[in-house]
Amino acid sequence: MNFIETRGNDNINPKEVTFSYAIMNPSASFGGLYVPQSLPQIDSDFLVNATQKSYKQITLDILELFAIDIEESVLQEAVNLYDKFDDPSDPVPFVSIEDDLFVNELFHGPTRAFKDMALQPFGVILSHVAQKQAQDYLILAATSGDTGPATLDTFANKQNIRVVCMYPDGGTSDVQRLQMQTQEGKNLKVIGVHGNFDDTQAALKALLASPTFKAELAKQNIKLSAANSVNFGRIIFQIIYHIFAYVSLLKLQKRQCGEKFYTIIPSGNFGNALGAYYAKKMGLPIKKILIASNINNILTDLINTGVYDLRQRKLLLTTSPAMDILISSNVERILFDKFGSERCGELMDSLRDFKYYKLTDEELASLQEDFAAVYSDDTFAKETIKHYAKKGYVMDPHTATCLKAYEDLCTKDIPSVLCSTAQWTKFAPTMMQALQNNEKKYTDIEALKSVSDALHVGIPECISSLFEKKILHDNIVDKENIEAEILAFIRGIV
Ligand SMILES: *Cc1c(COP(=O)(O)O)cnc(C)c1O
Repeated sequence: MNFIETRGNDNINPKEVTFSYAIMNPSASFGGLYVPQSLPQIDSDFLVNATQKSYKQITLDILELFAIDIEESVLQEAVNLYDKFDDPSDPVPFVSIEDDLFVNELFHGPTRAFKDMALQPFGVILSHVAQKQAQDYLILAATSGDTGPATLDTFANKQNIRVVCMYPDGGTSDVQRLQMQTQEGKNLKVIGVHGNFDDTQAALKALLASPTFKAELAKQNIKLSAANSVNFGRIIFQIIYHIFAYVSLLKLQKRQCGEKFYTIIPSGNFGNALGAYYAKKMGLPIKKILIASNINNILTDLINTGVYDLRQRKLLLTTSPAMDILISSNVERILFDKFGSERCGELMDSLRDFKYYKLTDEELASLQEDFAAVYSDDTFAKETIKHYAKKGYVMDPHTATCLKAYEDLCTKDIPSVLCSTAQWTKFAPTMMQALQNNEKKYTDIEALKSVSDALHVGIPECISSLFEKKILHDNIVDKENIEAEILAFIRGIV
């Protein structure tokens, strides 16, 4: 299977590329993205047979349908990383919390966010391709909290890959910061930046444009790549757990294969939702993909009105920080899929030049065939956390936003699946505020202990041990000094 570009081809880039090319060189002509030329189909036989298979086997079966240019042995090694999850025989537990409401728990990997679902296997694949090319790559990441730890964990000590991860100092939770600062691996560099997430991202952009930086990379024969959420190497693994959710539903409910279900997705950059869209196109009987947002509700507006308007928007900080996003990059792939490369390019140009685009009525109707959307505020999330905690289910603030979609958008006799994207342990202070109904500032460590005691839930070793581990990366720098720090890191490794 080959890959093509969302904004058309510039006659400089190849017209079609392989999977390995697309993941190593993720930005396509005119600033577009790579997308698969077509999608393989799954039928009810596939789904029924899958009820007898492990998560790993289903993953391998689906990857085989995609016919990507990665050897089977490498794919096998990649999916073996799901053995590092809490229960290797069940890496993605599927839990019923109401008669018709289920949770697909995507957070049982090493860093406790759903980013591990894709980044764990992706790390093996990217490193393999780099080794095959005998080429060193530098991956630069700016993180607001969850991507950083998951990226560092997957690439630690991987051949031919170096990672520099920047985070806003004070802009992450203690757990997220410690996950990065204590991460071992001589190929990793973590830098705290004075400023907020926007400053951190701006610093990364400045770096990518810097001539001295580029010259040094060229001198060391290092290529740049990115492991961010538009990389198709991550998206491909995010199709699979949606299919697995349906397989779990079949196993649990003995429903007829073919009966439809809702999937509800707490969305930011739209990678998770895009995975569901591709799964639906491959034949998974999704009735609708329900997009949950916080008060940064740009996706709600797009799906309800057809307008993407950044002009009056300011990013607002919420208790679901991984969804505090206004430029939701993977939406582009939906626009391409539905309206073609010419129209997609036009819309994306309009967003760049005018911070605005508007779909036609027909385009909006097409979008609404697959998606519906709603948003909620922090108060709703906290009330939801408390309500379900009382009933015996502990969910994190991102997952809690999904309940608004369940209440407002679902027809009750149709099963609904929430994609749970983080474990509560990453956001313990918010959990405490929700349970205590106050606005106190708790430290992560005190909140972790209090929530664990109050709700009788354990704290996994990977979280509790963070507070005892040695801090390996403690430099916090001004934006102006980032380049020098990174250059020193690059020169320092033989
Ligand atoms: C990254 C993340 C999201 C947003 O996922 P997208 O694929 O970017 O839409 C939601 N919740 C958590 C906890 C995350 O880490």
